[in-house]
Amino acid sequence: MTPFGFDNSFVRDLPGAYVAWRPAPVPAPHLLFLNEPLAQELRLDLASLHGAQGAALFAGNTLPADAEPIAQAYAGHQFGGFSPRLGDGRALLLGELIDRDGRRRDIAYKGSGRTPFSRGGDGKAAVGPMLREALIGEAMHALGIPTTRALAVAATGEQIRRDGPLPGAVLTRVAASHLRVGTFQFFLAQGDVDQLRQLADYTIKRHDPGLADSPEPYLGLLRAVAERQARLIAQWVNVGFIHGVMNTDNMTISGETIDYGPCAFMEAYDPDTVFSSIDHGGRYAYANQPLIARWNLARLAETLLPLMADSQDDAAVQQAVARAVEVLDAFPAQYAAALLSGQRAKLGLRDPGLATRTTTLVMSGEMSDAASAADSSAASLATSSATSADDETDTTLIADWLSLLHTQVVDYTLAWRHLAAAAAGDSEPLRDLFADRATLDAWLVRWRERCARDDLAGGPGNELRAAQMRRVNPWVIPRNHRVELALSAATEGDLVPFEQLLAALRRPFDDTPDLAPYGVPAPASETAGYQTFCGT
Ligand code: AMP
Ligand code: MG
Repeated sequence: MTPFGFDNSFVRDLPGAYVAWRPAPVPAPHLLFLNEPLAQELRLDLASLHGAQGAALFAGNTLPADAEPIAQAYAGHQFGGFSPRLGDGRALLLGELIDRDGRRRDIAYKGSGRTPFSRGGDGKAAVGPMLREALIGEAMHALGIPTTRALAVAATGEQIRRDGPLPGAVLTRVAASHLRVGTFQFFLAQGDVDQLRQLADYTIKRHDPGLADSPEPYLGLLRAVAERQARLIAQWVNVGFIHGVMNTDNMTISGETIDYGPCAFMEAYDPDTVFSSIDHGGRYAYANQPLIARWNLARLAETLLPLMADSQDDAAVQQAVARAVEVLDAFPAQYAAALLSGQRAKLGLRDPGLATRTTTLVMSGEMSDAASAADSSAASLATSSATSADDETDTTLIADWLSLLHTQVVDYTLAWRHLAAAAAGDSEPLRDLFADRATLDAWLVRWRERCARDDLAGGPGNELRAAQMRRVNPWVIPRNHRVELALSAATEGDLVPFEQLLAALRRPFDDTPDLAPYGVPAPASETAGYQTFCGT
């Protein structure tokens, strides 16, 4: 098969981190989904990805000539318990390529058969969960949230065994990398500090090249991952996304969302929402996500300590611990700042942090590009971690809004979306969502006063505000009942609902009449018992 133009740095630089392995041949490949825009981004030859040739490629029966398939090793804390050896039990990295924008991207199979890391599993995946991963990944991407994405899903023509027989499939996943917190934990558990350093240096070269020559590269790496995760989780929370299985092997170093197993979007607002059938204690509940992210970052920090301390004597180790703790302690404020900034945009309020940032850029006009970029990002961190009186007022305004949604069991997505209409002068769609309208009206008065204050200081005015709000508050999200419908039809061989839902999810901020059905919540009775499942 035509080469993809791979350049396989992971294979080259990290012997000991993988096992060379081949996908299992399958009987009757058939292409279910091909992501053409993504294929173009990757500069692949579209003609060779369609038809029988594409099906054989994406089911794992033929490989690009330059693929060097490997199963990656990693460890992980799953629901708090540590497994020193997980690894790609049903996935294979085929290689890396440089995309149209100069970014290095991993191309990997999921569901391509057993590997030395499969433990008791069959190494396979079913059509439903792989199409689910494709759908949710595209939805997240369209929402502007960093994510791994599906390049293709191919049915294998094979029945796999779950609760009953199900049609098998292989997903081809594209990621900034598959480096996880668990990858670092695997190397730490091996007890070989030189290998751990190789991994950290490789990671820095790949994701944070600016740190390579800094005085404290490993502390810098921890800080960079923490900042990316703070922004990512704030974005999840602001769209009502629940990952569902934030084990350390499912948290990337790149800051992309990975592993759409038991994830789901919240409907009526409730911070305690859990969908995963195995998450009995609510460890990965909606509101716990930032806390878990920090817990996972602490596990990453532990792996970096041997590299941060320049010797193993007590004083050096204590100092490394203190530096790592500083980074972990900064996380809640970084997360809160990212959350508040996103919430302000959703409320149609200006972000004072952004205003400061613009000023800094103007003032630093004479500096070199690199210097001014560094300067402005330092400024943005400084402004976002400072708590102003405005922050406090807005935080209260937002907390009261969320509390209204919670107590009145209001659909999270629709409430924000209809608030945009309220900005443009039509509050009725919003009021219709609430049983107790008087309380909502009282809140709307406060919100309008706050908007008016912005406008006195050069804010956008109501029309423009409403338009801006419609660009950050989606109308279409992957509603659980729609996703289930599409996947069960696809499992039966009918791809039409999947294709229609995918098309809608790619335009989350539009509200043309054809999208209207996708904006409607499921009946409460259906949502109440909704459960998702892992590892299927
Ligand atoms: P996940 O919950 O999908 O993040 O997977 C956790 C671990 O279980 C990873 O090491 C996977 O490779 C492995 N795994 C999940 N499903 C299977 C399967 N059907 N066969 C083999 N390994 C699996
Ligand atoms: Mg996983």
